[in-house]
Amino acid sequence: MDPLPARAEVAIVGGGVAGLATAWALAARGVGDVVVLEREAAVASQASGRNAAMCRALAEDDAWTEVTAEGAAFLRAPPPGFARRPLVDGRGAVLLAGEAAVDVLRARALRFALRHEVVTAADVAARWPGLEVARGGLWFPDDGVIDLGVLVESYAVAARAGGVRIVTGAEVMAVVPDDGRGGGGGGVVVHTPHGALDARQLVVAAGAWSDEVAARAHVAGVGLVSRRRHIVALHANAADAPIVWDVDGDEWYVRPAGPEVWASACDSDVVGAGVVDARTSAEAEVRERLPRSLARAPLARVWACQRTFAAGAPLVARDVASPWLVRVVGLGGHGVTASAAIGRAAAAVVSSQVR
Ligand SMILES: Cc1cc2nc3c(=O)[nH]c(=O)nc-3n(C[C@H](O)[C@H](O)[C@H](O)COP(=O)(O)OP(=O)(O)OC[C@H]3O[C@@H](n4cnc5c(N)ncnc54)[C@H](O)[C@@H]3O)c2cc1C
Repeated sequence: MDPLPARAEVAIVGGGVAGLATAWALAARGVGDVVVLEREAAVASQASGRNAAMCRALAEDDAWTEVTAEGAAFLRAPPPGFARRPLVDGRGAVLLAGEAAVDVLRARALRFALRHEVVTAADVAARWPGLEVARGGLWFPDDGVIDLGVLVESYAVAARAGGVRIVTGAEVMAVVPDDGRGGGGGGVVVHTPHGALDARQLVVAAGAWSDEVAARAHVAGVGLVSRRRHIVALHANAADAPIVWDVDGDEWYVRPAGPEVWASACDSDVVGAGVVDARTSAEAEVRERLPRSLARAPLARVWACQRTFAAGAPLVARDVASPWLVRVVGLGGHGVTASAAIGRAAAAVVSSQVR
């Protein structure tokens, strides 16, 4: 996309939603001397381009909901001119759960002022004709499916308008700290196949590979864990039906996608960074959990990708021992929804040390 400059205030490793949202938020703060370095030929080629793109404002705990609620509010009402089309389709989402779990979810929804309503199994069947579910749950009218392509494009366009450069095919192979004694600025030299770049700060936003990138900078990792998840696309047209996600017990979700329905059994096996091959048993596991009407729908395709976790919620922090390094990692299963909130938090951390 852009050529590699010789130096920049900030180098961001990774052009997924974490890196792009950080670049966008830095540019919005007037910090535009920023380079995003993405290993692949295109941005958002890994988790950020292979996910289910659901905007679910209510997450599994308060720490995650802090960022998903803020991120979802941004997606629903982005600043004027940010996106050329609405970013969320507003089809709504139903979270299915038993009574005790519904109470917990409701309390959290109230704490975060998320619009919701208690629904029965019959209400769900009315919203998705033919979908027989065993229980009701909570209806969130403001959730929906995210236009992933437009979101990624919007972050990139706004970042570049603010001065950010995005360099693809630019794997960060080595990072050499510059302690300043040689007359440098006390930052790092970043080595890529396009040449070297001097940067004062390095943002590691490399998803599943973030600990590996830190190691290339001789900085200890934070024990990130990557968990593979499959999506099974079925030939079934659910039109305007909402997202339906059983969050209580044996989890599964279905999400309409034009002439297909994407389904997941919410599998979560721990794998090494970069393992995205699909298990052959994934299709059967999904079909076992789905309501009857969908369980027999013909298969369109199956794919897998990784959700990467730090301890607890996402980690947006400066490294104590190597203060030129800022991590934006562990976006788990909510990174697209939460991206604007995470990008803003990261930009606040980075810009505190911009000269
Ligand atoms: C199956 C599945 C379904 C999901 N569904 C949803 C959903 O419905 N809603 C939601 O909000 N979230 C969802 N997620 C989560 C979401 O996809 C992730 O949280 C988010 O995409 C993580 O973004 P990231 O930028 O941290 O990582 P990534 O998108 O993986 O980006 C990291 C980038 O770093 C690059 N990179 C790595 N090493 C280097 C290097 N050495 N040099 C340069 N570049 C490097 C990679 O090529 C990659 O592009 C889902 C995830 C999965 C796997």
